[in-house]
Amino acid sequence: MATHCDVVCPFCGLGCDDLTVEEDAGRLAVRSTDCPVARERFGHTPPAEPPRVGGRPASFDDAVRAAAEILWTSRAPLVAGLGTDVAGVRAALALAERVGAVVDHERSEGLYRNLAVFQRSGWIATTFAELRNRCDLLLVVGPDPAALHPRFYERWVVPPPALQAPALREVVFLCGEPLETTRAALGEVPFTVIPGDATQIGAVAAALSTALTDPTGAAPGIAGLAERLRAAHYAVVAWAAAGFPGAHADLAVERLVRLVQDVNRQTRCAGLPLAGYDNVVGANQVCTWQLGVPLRTSLAGGAPRHDPHRFAWERFQHAADAVLWISAFRPEMPAFATGKAVVALAQPGTAFAAEPAVVIPVGTPGIDHAAHVFRGDSIVALRTGHLIDRGLPDVAAVLSAITAALPQEASC
Ligand code: SF4
Repeated sequence: MATHCDVVCPFCGLGCDDLTVEEDAGRLAVRSTDCPVARERFGHTPPAEPPRVGGRPASFDDAVRAAAEILWTSRAPLVAGLGTDVAGVRAALALAERVGAVVDHERSEGLYRNLAVFQRSGWIATTFAELRNRCDLLLVVGPDPAALHPRFYERWVVPPPALQAPALREVVFLCGEPLETTRAALGEVPFTVIPGDATQIGAVAAALSTALTDPTGAAPGIAGLAERLRAAHYAVVAWAAAGFPGAHADLAVERLVRLVQDVNRQTRCAGLPLAGYDNVVGANQVCTWQLGVPLRTSLAGGAPRHDPHRFAWERFQHAADAVLWISAFRPEMPAFATGKAVVALAQPGTAFAAEPAVVIPVGTPGIDHAAHVFRGDSIVALRTGHLIDRGLPDVAAVLSAITAALPQEASC
């Protein structure tokens, strides 16, 4: 039995670095928090499995060769999932460049609800540390982010502001009810709920913008909220766009970004778009610094071509004839159409709807090997630890081996 203290959690992007994790005969148990995501994911450490080719156990080298053959002979490969650490994403991009693949992260849809607005108009955004240290009014818009980021309030909202008076802050929930766990977590922090339809976030944000300068005709709750925003020293507007209902969530985000700009005409205010599951923010950062463009990019034909609509993995998978799917953070994988050659780099114990052509079990960043993952506010790359050794390779090592097994390009 061993106890690991101050463990960094790599799973939801909140960057908790205070976990106590007990290890007993290769099994892990989180003891310091009730966070259901951390408990489930640290608690999933089945023994290593051998690679498989065509559903049969195979050596690592044979599985690597089979994966290389599939990707090299593919007409339209997709390298996606990208649920891995920074080193794994770098290796995935290097392989994707060699085979001319489209690259995307499984969780990019939620990210793109924010990025689409950022690309169109820019925004004023803040960090978790600024929220904790300076914010006196937190406006949470839409479904409670704690459903996706369970310790959001405990870690970043309940501790009193350190750098700005007044030392008290209040929270307002708009168009979304706080979860029971959130109500408990907030403790002494005062909060109010302004009910509303989560499908109408854009319209409510627009009404709030208007009420900042002209409250005439605004609903009493909106007029009162506009007054509180004007009176704040440092307001933060937070949302988790992945939880927004409806097909045009980016338009709701756009209105929230404009609301932040409008409040800034009267007092200090910043947005806090929450995202970051399975290192999606890190994958996007690596893609941007390596290629000059973000996720949802094709590397076929030389120069990277970025198209957030066409190269979204859920759309491009229908055109792809081979898929390399990477899921090192959780034992789940989408089902792909029959006839597609699938190479899966997945956790041991992953249940597949149909057996992939090649399966190579991989270790989990922060459990089987040390790793860098990005926090959801994009500011910090966290260094995780290494807790147990199941004899599983990390994603970067597997992808580097597959790349090395590709035919050498002719030199002139
Ligand atoms: S809130 Fe997120 S980062 Fe924090 S312990 Fe839970 S899953 Fe890990």
